[in-house]
Amino acid sequence: MTIGTETSSTIDSPGNSIYWSASHMEPARRFAPLEGRQQADVVIVGGGFTGLWTAWYLKQLAPDQHIAVVEAECFGHGASGRNGGWVIGNIAGLERHLHGLDTDTRQALCRMLGDNVDDIGAALSDADIDADFHKGGALNVAARYAAQQGLQRSYLAHLHELGFSDRDCRWLNADELTMMARFRRPFGAVFQRQVATLHPRKLIHGLVQQLAASGVQLYEHSRVTSVAERRVSTHEGSVQAQTVVIATEGYSEQLANIRRHVIPVQSLVIATEPLTNATWDALGLDSRPTFADASRLINYGHRTRDGRLVFGARGNYQLGAHPRHDPAISDADIDMRRKLLVDMFPALEDVAVTHGWGGSLGLSRSFRPHAILAGKQGLATAGGYAGEGVAASHLMGRTLAEMILGEDSSRTRAPWAFHGTSLQEVVKRWEPEPLRWLAAQTILTSYATEEALMSRERHLPLISPGLSWLNNTFASVIE
Ligand SMILES: Cc1cc2nc3c(=O)[nH]c(=O)nc-3n(C[C@H](O)[C@H](O)[C@H](O)COP(=O)(O)OP(=O)(O)OC[C@H]3O[C@@H](n4cnc5c(N)ncnc54)[C@H](O)[C@@H]3O)c2cc1C
Repeated sequence: MTIGTETSSTIDSPGNSIYWSASHMEPARRFAPLEGRQQADVVIVGGGFTGLWTAWYLKQLAPDQHIAVVEAECFGHGASGRNGGWVIGNIAGLERHLHGLDTDTRQALCRMLGDNVDDIGAALSDADIDADFHKGGALNVAARYAAQQGLQRSYLAHLHELGFSDRDCRWLNADELTMMARFRRPFGAVFQRQVATLHPRKLIHGLVQQLAASGVQLYEHSRVTSVAERRVSTHEGSVQAQTVVIATEGYSEQLANIRRHVIPVQSLVIATEPLTNATWDALGLDSRPTFADASRLINYGHRTRDGRLVFGARGNYQLGAHPRHDPAISDADIDMRRKLLVDMFPALEDVAVTHGWGGSLGLSRSFRPHAILAGKQGLATAGGYAGEGVAASHLMGRTLAEMILGEDSSRTRAPWAFHGTSLQEVVKRWEPEPLRWLAAQTILTSYATEEALMSRERHLPLISPGLSWLNNTFASVIE
């Protein structure tokens, strides 16, 4: 595999190009900045999936409501325009929400998360939005070293314990896995049915067009500098509303109300050139499932509709919690991900990487996502998706819309829907620096060490339990 040879257009540095933007030519329509003093029933800060889906469901449920969305840059500037395109029928940290609930309730909540994927597909189809939505399921594979098989079997047991059914997730043996995808060392996999993929920029574009057509007031290049007393203010204007929704997730650095509660974690992605039929024959992936490898350091990919591989891996946290606005990543960053991909699929050895980019996802201090309505403050927020926000932002946006309108549904009664008097009452604050950074480095180092040992298939009886102890200790200290 090489870096930077594009077949259809020439890209000097592949590490400075978001494939989703490069592959979707949007019309030049842009939205004017917010100016003067405006009024709305609901004003939403942040034009990513959370903000746009919240506006979408508010308009669906209450067409007469006056909704405004205020975006600092352009719609989809944050994680929503840069992610890996997985639509996951689950949420990160689910076990924290399900803790103590009875089996029937847990199973119903797992079904709700799985159905959320179908609901996204149905919403797009009803609205005639072509965002390359494709439900091919997910392969959680053991395909690099033998110990991964044990990790994936534990993961399957964990999913069943949470409340996911046998139909939703099941074990594939090496032959069954190889029928679907030709990994270098196919030991087996957990197949999850309720996972889809989409083209993030096409989704942003489709949502924005529909919202504009339905009368939602959309503002770009309007950075909100304060949220206070049901008013959001930028340098040039303000919107007064009954409810202010903060939908800034990993890009919340400038909003005092939220920035210590949800912090940015960096995540990097690469895309290959379009692969030839011969290469696809060697790889498989005919039904376009997503794939992820058993590693706490995370890597994940999928085959796009136009025949490329998009592959993300290995996030990190930077001192000071600054979100990544510039998508540029280095050749070394690309090369590390390229090597991981070739390690899984040797057939990719000579394929070019044509795009590489980075962005920031949001991590809440409770390590679980939330949808919060703080009625007395007139504030609402959703986020903390920890890198699994493409589907979750749809669910949480829909939930927020129902909560704001005072509706009662299975979603507004879910354990991740909080009705509080203040945001601070519900979401904890992160520790000050450098404690956060030190904790993140320790955890990442322990994960990397564990993986290095396992991949060399070395059984070091004292070191592995030691690392587990270190992880557990950190997890409980920072809980
Ligand atoms: C590289 C990467 C890969 C990922 N891959 C996946 C994946 O494959 N599957 C998955 O489920 N999840 C994935 N995620 C996570 C997912 O993309 C996010 O959880 C989700 O998009 C968050 O949407 P959001 O609308 O809440 O936040 P964002 O999309 O980050 O939007 C926040 C918006 O708020 C705006 N904003 C910030 N401050 C202000 C202000 N002061 N005034 C006005 N506007 C402001 C920002 O400009 C931004 O547009 C990935 C994330 C990254 C970074």
